[in-house]
Amino acid sequence: MAVKPPVAVSPPRAWAEINSSALRYNLRVAREAGGCAVMPVVKAGAYGHGLEEIARTLATEDIAFFGVANVGEARRIRNAGVNTRIYLLGATWSEEREEIVAQDWTPCLSSLEEARHFNVLAAEIGTRLKVHLAVDTGMGRGGFVAKDLPQILAELLTLEHLEIEGLGSHLPSADEDREFTLGQFACYEKVLAELGGADRFRWRHLSSSAGLLGYEAGSCNLTRPGLLLYGVSPLPEHQSKLKTVMTLKSRVTLIRTLPAGHGVSYGRSFVTTRPTRVATVGIGYGDGYPRHVSGNGAEVFIRGQRFPLIGRVTMDQVMIDVTEGPEVAEGDEVEMFGPNISVAELAVKASTISWEIFTGITPRVMRVYL
Ligand SMILES: *Cc1c(COP(=O)(O)O)cnc(C)c1O
Repeated sequence: MAVKPPVAVSPPRAWAEINSSALRYNLRVAREAGGCAVMPVVKAGAYGHGLEEIARTLATEDIAFFGVANVGEARRIRNAGVNTRIYLLGATWSEEREEIVAQDWTPCLSSLEEARHFNVLAAEIGTRLKVHLAVDTGMGRGGFVAKDLPQILAELLTLEHLEIEGLGSHLPSADEDREFTLGQFACYEKVLAELGGADRFRWRHLSSSAGLLGYEAGSCNLTRPGLLLYGVSPLPEHQSKLKTVMTLKSRVTLIRTLPAGHGVSYGRSFVTTRPTRVATVGIGYGDGYPRHVSGNGAEVFIRGQRFPLIGRVTMDQVMIDVTEGPEVAEGDEVEMFGPNISVAELAVKASTISWEIFTGITPRVMRVYL
């Protein structure tokens, strides 16, 4: 006999549907457009899509590495039972390095100090650690400065417990400044030649999403896409090649008709000018729906149509003007972003970028994998 739960389980107010086959599709696009092996970037909980699930899904494809931001993310991938090689995208702290060596995760080096420390730790356990050199061709965030690297290489090569198998760099403006980016590609090729040529490095990589979509790979044989795997192209002209992965949804919790001259939400920045049917929807900035869209013409999608958001976004609820169009009812599903309202569109209205919208979706939002 079924036992009745003591309290009814309430359905989630806000959830994110994640389409795994669209993710796989976008990975294929990345592979074909870039013409290289792929390192899916899964930092920040796979851009809010759920690190473990996304890593498990992509690990069954032919991928070279997972790119993560820190050792905590690397651990979570291993704890999820995924054994794909892991690449650490940023600098490491000295306290983290023993674990990195023991686990054979792959760091990118920005300094001789780091390199010497990894060399000592690898020697202690009698191993040779595979490492990549990061070269700063213009990002200004990490790596050896391009013009310094050839002199440093000689010293790096004396570190016998390091196997330098890669050379990586990063593009800060591939979606904004073509000329500068082409200069970075040229700089990368020059450094590569000065270090002994492409044959010297098993892995050569420069491009994230925008770089791989918009530029020739040159001597590179690996790309590091993040955003495009999640269905958004930083270069709008390539958007139609990709499929939507995440749809952020909520439900109408309440419908009321307000008279003309009635304020809506905090600050009363919106006041009705006519009798208005207002749908209250169970999602807010506490779920990561950006408060900054308030007053900027954001829309949501209900029953096959767009409706305008009115008043300020509150922590748990938003209000939608449903006076016109199909009859909206309590309980109706609402698409906040997804196939009909793009993340990129929402990001513009929130004066931010798609990356920040994705990574801002909070833990309260249940991720549902399709
Ligand atoms: C985050 C990151 C990427 C992925 O960038 P997208 O623009 O999301 O494709 C690639 N490389 C490095 C070094 C990064 O930090």
